[in-house]
Amino acid sequence: MSRILVIEDNKTLANLIAKKIFSELSVEVDTAYTLKEAKLFLSRYNYFIVLTDLNLPDSPNGEVVDYLVKKDQKVIILTSNIDKAFRKKMMEKSIIDYIKKSGAADIKYVIEMIKRLRANQKHTVLVADDSMPMRTRFKNLLEHLFFNVITVAHGEEALNILQSRQDVSMLITDYNMPVINGFELTKEIRKKLDKNTFPIIAVSSNEDEELIALFLKNGANDYIKKPFSKEEFYCRINNSIESYENIQTILNSANRDFLTGLYNRRYFFQHINNLCENAKENYLDVYIAMVDIDKFKSINDTYGHDEGDKAIVMLSEILQSSTQPKDLVSRFGGEEFCIALITQDQQTAYAICERIRTSVENASFVSAKGEEIRYTVSIGLAKHEEADINETINQADMNLYEAKNSGRNKIVFKENR
Ligand code: GH3
Ligand code: MG
Ligand code: MG
Repeated sequence: MSRILVIEDNKTLANLIAKKIFSELSVEVDTAYTLKEAKLFLSRYNYFIVLTDLNLPDSPNGEVVDYLVKKDQKVIILTSNIDKAFRKKMMEKSIIDYIKKSGAADIKYVIEMIKRLRANQKHTVLVADDSMPMRTRFKNLLEHLFFNVITVAHGEEALNILQSRQDVSMLITDYNMPVINGFELTKEIRKKLDKNTFPIIAVSSNEDEELIALFLKNGANDYIKKPFSKEEFYCRINNSIESYENIQTILNSANRDFLTGLYNRRYFFQHINNLCENAKENYLDVYIAMVDIDKFKSINDTYGHDEGDKAIVMLSEILQSSTQPKDLVSRFGGEEFCIALITQDQQTAYAICERIRTSVENASFVSAKGEEIRYTVSIGLAKHEEADINETINQADMNLYEAKNSGRNKIVFKENR
């Protein structure tokens, strides 16, 4: 992220804000006490956001804001007075927000706002509206909040975009559109994507009272009534995207193992059948490798549980670097990992397992007390045929058992019995 500029003639406050932003966001912050100084900084650097006081010694009537807007800067105003007339006047200008500067809570709000804007850069918002001026207005407002924006003129186009692109985070849709209206569009999307995984914001004009209720009942997360204020629009958009992100975080924590960040057993079983079907369509085979640390109990007993955890993390890193994104690496529990390898032939599957085995054999890590810790793994490998995936996993498990019983630090690969 590029830098942040703070323009404020109260030096104590300017430095306090700069210090807080730097410590919370690890981003370079410059402080200017006058408009003249600000101009110098602006000629030298690009800024992600400019926070500015309204009145400076050389900008007694808020001239600084007009200057920044003219220079296409993204501006947040710091002010000590927020009355109705002021709010209206400021939001008419092309600024992102205004913030009252009265205490620590306000600085916290600034920091949260910057975090929000920074995160918005990762999201693409789809806008469906048949009116060209409205599309342009939405696009400008959203881009001002750092979103990537795609606009379409009707529902069918919106469905096409959603089908061809995986990276759209949210839809804003008008009601009145040719071909498929906003209501039909919402219903269609909800057949595949629920409220938690894809937020939809409906836009309607004042007359359609019952339309809003219908929209909400049929899956819209929120609505905006035309005409709307920029401030309301920003708040609703930010709220929706925030809850979307929170749900994504929860899903991630349900699908991944906390210690290693690998997918967990639950995720593995939810996705393995899909993975097998995809492999088949592409004429590829699926192999299941069960990987288990040898004599892991003795690592725990000798060096302690924390070092045991480090051994597990080290193995997870080797498993990830030895496989490709198309493979599915998961931690089944304890020191046991299950990998679905998508390969063209048996030699490749075996070679990957051999690479894992030798990488572990040659690796080591240093304990907190400075001891060098080494260990090995045993691997049971099985080819997935037409049968139930559980049978293949059982076969891999039996092969692993045999690897353990015949000396460890080896791979056993046997066809299904
Ligand atoms: P083998 O070579 O036959 O696989 O023997 P082993 O000692 O590796 O296997 P065993 O199943 O007897 O012991 C596994 C141990 O792993 C027992 C359990 O306390 C420990 N363990 C399970 N999960 C974790 C974990 O998350 N962290 C740590 N440190 N230990 C764990
Ligand atoms: Mg073990
Ligand atoms: Mg075990």
